Amino acid sequence: MLIHGQFLRKDQIAAFDRLGVIPSLFPMHTFYWGDWHRDHTVGPVDAENISPTGWVRERKMIFTSHHDAPVAFPDSMRVLDATVTRRSRSGDILGPQHRMDVITALKAMTIWPAYQHFEEDRKGSLAVGKLADFVILSADPTAVDPETIDQIKVEETIKEGTTIYRRK
Ligand SMILES: [Zn+2]
Repeated sequence: MLIHGQFLRKDQIAAFDRLGVIPSLFPMHTFYWGDWHRDHTVGPVDAENISPTGWVRERKMIFTSHHDAPVAFPDSMRVLDATVTRRSRSGDILGPQHRMDVITALKAMTIWPAYQHFEEDRKGSLAVGKLADFVILSADPTAVDPETIDQIKVEETIKEGTTIYRRK
């Protein structure tokens, strides 16, 4: 497992592929700090390739996504939005070649991390015999305009079959 990988190079990803390392990336960087990195720290080329999900998927590797709370808010819809749109706070798209489709971005938050944590027998998908851990969302992220994914709300959180959160 590799955590973070903000400025991974392509050759490093090739090495992970060879070694069987699954990167846990932080695509939400593009939203919170993408503009700043492009304009003030590493410049446009490296900023475009922050959390390079596209290079990972080019090799048919899997990746997972995380949000570094409390560095950033643990807002899963913002993680999903950033993985799909890569829009920064200024509204620019950073690294369009790294944008993921919604299903891939959802896998990186569910079934792939379960596999990465050796928990795929209990978590990551809804199936008979697994824990009933899931959320009910206000809209279907695969059906809405991707630009509105960040506005989707978690209506209810169910852990092992019991509601532990309901939006007021
Ligand atoms: Zn991180």
